[in-house]
Amino acid sequence: MGTAIQVKEATICPNYVNGQWVQSRSGRKLVRLNPANHDDVLGFAPLSTRDEIREAVDAARQAFPAWRDTPAPVRGKIVMQAARLMAEEKESLARLLTREEGKTVSESLGEILRTVNILEYTAGEARRLAGETLPSELPKNFIYTIRQPLGVVGLITPWNFPVAVPVWKIAPALVCGNTLVWKPSELTPFTSRAIVDLFARAGLPGGVFNMVNGAGEEAGDELVEHPAVRAISFTGSCEVGSLIYAKAARQMKKVQCEMGGKNPVVVLADADLELAADCTIMGAFGSTGQRCTATSRVIVEESIADKFVQMLVDRARKLKVGNGAEPGTNVGPSVDEAQFNKVQEYLALGKREGKLVCGGERLRGEAYDRGWFTPPTIFDRVAPDARLAQEEIFGPVLSVIRVKDFDEAAAVASGIRYGLAASIFSTNANAVFEFAERVECGIVHLNSPTVGGEAHVPFGGIKATGIGERETGSIAIEFYSELKIVYVDYTGRKRETNIY
Ligand code: NAD
Repeated sequence: MGTAIQVKEATICPNYVNGQWVQSRSGRKLVRLNPANHDDVLGFAPLSTRDEIREAVDAARQAFPAWRDTPAPVRGKIVMQAARLMAEEKESLARLLTREEGKTVSESLGEILRTVNILEYTAGEARRLAGETLPSELPKNFIYTIRQPLGVVGLITPWNFPVAVPVWKIAPALVCGNTLVWKPSELTPFTSRAIVDLFARAGLPGGVFNMVNGAGEEAGDELVEHPAVRAISFTGSCEVGSLIYAKAARQMKKVQCEMGGKNPVVVLADADLELAADCTIMGAFGSTGQRCTATSRVIVEESIADKFVQMLVDRARKLKVGNGAEPGTNVGPSVDEAQFNKVQEYLALGKREGKLVCGGERLRGEAYDRGWFTPPTIFDRVAPDARLAQEEIFGPVLSVIRVKDFDEAAAVASGIRYGLAASIFSTNANAVFEFAERVECGIVHLNSPTVGGEAHVPFGGIKATGIGERETGSIAIEFYSELKIVYVDYTGRKRETNIY
C-alpha cells in the first residue's frame, strides 16, 4: 500500500458509478509509484467512503431490472465486444499493467491474452444459459429449470492479476444478468480504470457495472455489509477472505473466496531433472513469485537432492532481475514497499530456518535503488513445518525440503493449510497418478509447473485456499445464478394423486 497524502485532483483515479466517471469526495488517497522506478508516479488511488459504495450499489440496483430483462445473448455480445477491444489494445494495456504492478511485459501480455480467452469463452456461455427439462411422475405434467441472476453482486479483487482475476468475475456476473459493484485493489487503480473503460466502450448501459476504489476495511467492508448486495466474490489473502466469509454468512449471502497458496513441486529420483528444474524455476520466480499458484516449496528425494539443488541454483543465477518494461528482464520487482519488506523479513527468517544457497539480499546499485528488487532466492534443507515452508511469502523465494521417498513427499505436499496447486515430476506413471489422487489441492500439474490455467477450465483451491464454487469455465455460471424449478401441470384438473 502507498502513503496517504494530499494531491491535486487531476492525478486521482476516478470511480465509475451509474455510467459516469466521478471523483471520490473523500479527500484521502494513496500514491501509486512504478514499483521498478519510484521516480515514475502513476497517480493516486482514492480511498472512497462508505457513502460512495452505497451510491454505487443504488445505481446497480436501479439498473438491475432492465439488465436482467436484456436477452442473455445480447448481454454476451457486449462481453464479446470487450474481448475484441482488449485484444486490439493489448500492447498498451500490458505496458500499463507492467508499470503499475511490476511484472514483465511478456507476463502482462500473457495475463491479457488469457483474459481475452476468458471473455470470449464467457460471452459464448450467454447462449448456453440452459436449464433442463425433467419428466414428471404424473401424467401431462413436466418440470423445467431456469437460471436467473442474483441481483447486485460485489466483487473484491487483489493486485497481482489485476486484469484476469476481475474479468473472470465480471464476465460471468454480467452474462448471467447481474449488475455489479467492483472494489479493485488499491494498488492497481489505473489498470482497473482501463478495464472499466473497455467495458463502457463495449456498450454496457449505465449502472450495470460500477467501480469504486478504496480501502478494504472501509469501501470493501461496506460492500460486504450492504444488505442489497446478494453475493460477494473475493480473491485475495486468506486473512481477509476468512473475515469476509464470516461477515457475509451472517447475512446469508452467497460467498466465493479464492485465497493464498503455498504450492509444492515434488521431484522424484526418476524424474527428468532438466525438465523439473526448468519448470520449478519458472513456477517459483515467474511474476516475481507473486502468483497464488507460484511454486514456493520443492520437495525432493534425498538421493538426487544435491544434484537438483545445484541445477536450480545454476538456473536462478542466470535470471535477469530488473524493470519489467525492459527487454530481457525475467524477474520484476515486488509490487510495493510493504510487500518488499515482507519478503525481506522472510529472507532473514530463511537464514535461520534453512541453508541459503542463492540470492538472499536485496539488490543494490543504480538499476535497483529506485525499485523493490529481490533476487531469486533459494533455501535448502528447510523443515516441512518451518514457517518458511508453511507461510505464503509472495516473493521470489523457494524452499527446498528433502524427503526419503514418495510417501513422505506426498505427505509433506499436503501437510499445509493451503490447497491451491501442486505438481510432480517423475517418469513413473503409477507414482504420478497416485500423487494426483492423493494430494490435497484444487489443481494438479503432472510433469509441468504449478502455474497457469486455461480459460474454459475451472480454477480454484480447497482448504484455506478456497471456499465456494470454482471460477472460470462453465462452472463460473453457477455462482452468479440461481436455479429455479418450475412444475407444469397441463391437465387443467385438480390433482388426484399427491407427489411427495
Ligand atoms: P488482500 O487480501 O490484502 O486484498 C484483496 C482485496 O481485499 C483488496 O481489494 C483489498 O482492498 C480488499 N480488502 C482488504 N481488507 C478487506 C476487508 N476487511 N473487507 C473487504 N475487503 C477487504 O490481498 P492482496 O494482497 O491484494 O492479494 C494477494 C493475495 O491474493 C495472496 O494471498 C494471493 O495468494 C491471493 N490470490 C489468490 C488467487 C486465487 O485465485 N486463489 C488469485 C490471485 C491472488
